[in-house]
Amino acid sequence: MSASAFESRRLALQRRMAGAKLDALLVSHSANVRYLSGFTGSNGLVLMLVDRAILFTDPRYKIQASSEVDCRVQVVRGPLLPHVLAVIKRLRARRLGFENNRVSFEAYQFLKEHLPLKTALDPVAGWVEEQRMIKSDDEIDHIRRSVDLNSAAFERAVTRLRPDMRESELAAELDYRMRRLGAEGPAFETIVASGPRTAWPHARPSSDKLRGNALVLVDMGANLDGYASDMTRMLFVGRPGARVKRTYGAVLEAQLAAIDAVRAGVTAESVDRAARRVLRSHKLDRAFVHSTGHGLGLEIHEPPRLGKKDKVTLQAGMAITVEPGVYLEGFAGIRIEDTVVVTSNGCRVLTPTSKDLRVI
Ligand code: ZN
Ligand code: ZN
Repeated sequence: MSASAFESRRLALQRRMAGAKLDALLVSHSANVRYLSGFTGSNGLVLMLVDRAILFTDPRYKIQASSEVDCRVQVVRGPLLPHVLAVIKRLRARRLGFENNRVSFEAYQFLKEHLPLKTALDPVAGWVEEQRMIKSDDEIDHIRRSVDLNSAAFERAVTRLRPDMRESELAAELDYRMRRLGAEGPAFETIVASGPRTAWPHARPSSDKLRGNALVLVDMGANLDGYASDMTRMLFVGRPGARVKRTYGAVLEAQLAAIDAVRAGVTAESVDRAARRVLRSHKLDRAFVHSTGHGLGLEIHEPPRLGKKDKVTLQAGMAITVEPGVYLEGFAGIRIEDTVVVTSNGCRVLTPTSKDLRVI
């Protein structure tokens, strides 16, 4: 990401601060800190002021911060907050915004107790996340590369799949392939579930063997240069029966209908509705127990959410997943997930992997 990219992100946030008459805004969520400053360390706070920004971190990150960050860096010993407070006091700031959905209760109490009486605390949850929803071309390029890497890792791992393999071994193989292809690692804990356990939407890989005649659900994402990808594919070890094929066909139809509904200007809930409508026609809507998708970028789950009551209007440049699924206890779970980018007249599906049920 170019230095000017961080600068223009900060300028956009400063414009919003000015509109809300904030003198300062404390950004504490690490993905937001990274988005605004480039800092990737684990201990950092960005204090946004009207005309500049300061990154606070500790001495472990001194050298790293000086190479990553293009705004002022203040390296301090001990807890960061007292040093942030000192700046607020010196500036006689009257209104300080803070991320009320990200700050710990302890940090909030500390701010309340130590801020001068004339400084008001303004909750501004989600401001940076809202800004992050619309990706720049450069960010979309990062996500696309993460998606491509993830799909390549999937293909390589699948060629090594054997029926006597354990779920955990396949998960390890997928993670290994991601790293070999240049990923920093998985963007979330890789999900591999087989047989009836596919009906657990977020199953963790177990020591169960894949065996014959079993569905296998793989949900994986890579983290490449900080950007996430997310894909779910179904495999079948053996020969799938009629019910598996029928259910798979219904989920695929729902997924394609949802992709078809994505376009700038429509609400997130209308995309969700498109998937549900198809599943209802197959009497499977009650087995679809989660939302149709979510935004992704620096984090694997970020706004917007594409669920039943999500009124957010989709805009060009949003990167989202489309992932309807059905979960039938004692039988199987089936989910198909792609990463797509919203465009003015539709969307671009980034995931290159075939959506045929893979029979091994
Ligand atoms: Zn996923
Ligand atoms: Zn997902």
